[in-house]
Amino acid sequence: MFTPYKHEPFTDFTIEANKQELLTAIKQVEANLGGHYPLVINGERVETDDTISSYNPANKQELIGTTGKATKAHAEQAIEAASTAFESWRTVAPAERANILVRAAAIVRRRKHEFTALLIKEAGKPWKEADADTAEGIDFMEYYARQMVELAEGKSVHSREGELNRYIYTPTGVTVVISPWNFAFAIMAGTTVAPLVTGNTVLLKPASTTPVVAAKFVEVLEEAGVPKGVINFVPGSGSEVGDYLVEHPKTALITFTGSRDVGVRLYEKAAIVQAGQNHLKRVIVEMGGKDTVVVDNEADIDTAVEAIVISAFGFSGQKCSAGSRAVIHEDLYDEVVAKVVEKTEALTVGNPADATNYYMGPVIDQAAFDKITGYIEIGKSEGKLVAGGKSDDAEGYFIHPTVFADVDPKARIMQEEIFGPVLAISKASTFAEALEIANNTEYGLTGAVITNNRAKIEQAKQDFHVGNLYFNRNCTGAIVGYHPFGGFKMSGTDSKAGGPDYLTLHMQAKTISEMF
Ligand code: GLU
Repeated sequence: MFTPYKHEPFTDFTIEANKQELLTAIKQVEANLGGHYPLVINGERVETDDTISSYNPANKQELIGTTGKATKAHAEQAIEAASTAFESWRTVAPAERANILVRAAAIVRRRKHEFTALLIKEAGKPWKEADADTAEGIDFMEYYARQMVELAEGKSVHSREGELNRYIYTPTGVTVVISPWNFAFAIMAGTTVAPLVTGNTVLLKPASTTPVVAAKFVEVLEEAGVPKGVINFVPGSGSEVGDYLVEHPKTALITFTGSRDVGVRLYEKAAIVQAGQNHLKRVIVEMGGKDTVVVDNEADIDTAVEAIVISAFGFSGQKCSAGSRAVIHEDLYDEVVAKVVEKTEALTVGNPADATNYYMGPVIDQAAFDKITGYIEIGKSEGKLVAGGKSDDAEGYFIHPTVFADVDPKARIMQEEIFGPVLAISKASTFAEALEIANNTEYGLTGAVITNNRAKIEQAKQDFHVGNLYFNRNCTGAIVGYHPFGGFKMSGTDSKAGGPDYLTLHMQAKTISEMF
């Protein structure tokens, strides 16, 4: 029996010993940069002609490492390996598969600061965010292991006289995991171990900006006992390898986290039944967000300011849960905006590998930098720039936290996902109007409401159409097993990661009825 699930504690870096441990880990990671990580197909390291180079977004010249870059031929080999391995892996006892996850969690926990340091270097995450990313990956393993043990029993159904009925969950098949760079450890690990523990085999295609941390995790899984062919590591281009994996008649389950456009395209592709395919594919997609913090006139001002700033600028707003919009009741508008500006201007921005422990680091790459700074220009004609607006991509991709006030709810910066440190603020004259504005995007992922009025809390529970709704707090930072995470509308399939239904999405329920 496992101990009861509890989420991994966060590290307090105000404690000097913790800070020193992390700085030592950063030095160790820096000393080992530049390594090469080949593809892993059927347990073999496979060299490729092309490679993917991963650079530090805070220091563009610094190579984190290289990985193999799969071609269609490699993808085909990996699918064959995963199909063959599925035949034995699907029969391994669920409890043993769960044990492997708990062992992998223990390995990562022992090397926690190393993974955190790697996220700092490869994804440009500030300490707190990198530490939370590592912790969340551990949580996914611990939580899904326990969920699997519970589900292994199946669910109870009735039996009539002389009959024995059972309802159990069985593995689905070869799973394509396409993971994002923004939770380069947590979401990569979570979306990989969920299919594994449920008896499926995996083809992992990590984001091309953060493939090294994924390669390290594959090593952890092997060390923990995942057999050959069960996990295959196939970084590569989306258009060449991603599409090939998704469209292949032998893949059965697609799990993707990333942009709305790619998610929709994969969803459509997976729906098409290919020649030789004798099943319908399951798809789990987690896409974007344009999430709102609503501030009512009966709200605590400091709670509101804190919620807005944390939601908007944690990891430079590069979360689909980021509160990139705030809608504030006119009675409190001026005061809340002034305090948001003050708090935003106090945030520090710099290289997260420095001992300073900056609040914000860089954005992920040049394309992100260009897109975000482009939106800052758009914002200047759509609202009043009240904080930030500065950026510098000389050494790394740094953008200062930026706030636009007095923005029309239909403006582009209020509607489109920027995925950067840009906050747009609109004014509402009633609570009902604030909720209406909050709901007026194509997304429906997270939202927060700051109010002390119970009736308005009840109203928001009914009318605020998001997958994760928070009261009197920020709208980011869902914890595995505590705040199952996933959204409505164009945010995705509402497949709540870290929740009690998540694993069943990876399995096929089977009814077994026997007469005696
Ligand atoms: N689960 C994360 C949170 O609650 C966000 C995940 C994402 O951005 O993809 O903040």
